[in-house]
Amino acid sequence: MKEANLPDIEEFKRSLALLSRIARCGELRFVGGEPTLNRGICNFIRAAKESGVFERIRVITNGLLLSKMTDEFWQLADLVRISVYPATAEQFSEERLQPLRDIAAKFETELDVVRDTEFFTATSDSRINDPNVLQKIFDDCGEAHGWSCHLLYRDRLFRCSRVPTLDRYLTNIEVNHENFTDEDCLLLNDRPTLLNDLKNYLSSPKPLKACSFCYGTSGPMLEHVQLTVQDIRSKVVIKSHADETNST
Ligand code: SF4
Repeated sequence: MKEANLPDIEEFKRSLALLSRIARCGELRFVGGEPTLNRGICNFIRAAKESGVFERIRVITNGLLLSKMTDEFWQLADLVRISVYPATAEQFSEERLQPLRDIAAKFETELDVVRDTEFFTATSDSRINDPNVLQKIFDDCGEAHGWSCHLLYRDRLFRCSRVPTLDRYLTNIEVNHENFTDEDCLLLNDRPTLLNDLKNYLSSPKPLKACSFCYGTSGPMLEHVQLTVQDIRSKVVIKSHADETNST
């Protein structure tokens, strides 16, 4: 991404105030990019706790900055999950994890370490045109239906976590597409029909516009690759992966 896109705490609180009137959720996850890069993360977790909407708060992180987090962070988070990739495995040997396990235990925070070596291909750089394929991808999408992973962003709620990022990404690589961030969302505001609109939105059988550039949770698995800044800039690796998965 060309520019940082940090969330706004006031906007977040506004959305939570509206949601707290109509919804209760099992879990709120702070994900990334990398959530611990946001120096205001404790303000966000505190606001989420105070809203009463969520049963628990989970932070999903690559763990690289965890040793710098304050006691307040550990006090607020119910669960911290470290995703360890092959490129960072050495830094998270059992021995090196011990200080993090100790601080987590001190604040009764659950610490979960997941070693990821494979990823499924999530999105496509080119449009998926076949409506049957599109519908099947959406119907099978775990984010939309299985574990119901919705996203709060800019006074809007999204059926899945990918829509605004996919929108920004396609804009950055100059691929023509609809404005998913405006067209695929449920606007959160003070209207009396909000609860019904939410129910209809979350149960709609119709794919989102963003699904035309997404493999949902049906994409082929790929081995973890650590891209360099140069790879990303030249888009060589990303493009060759996309070509490979399109032909699959
Ligand atoms: S955009 Fe992708 S992740 Fe989101 S609902 Fe569609 S298929 Fe699922």
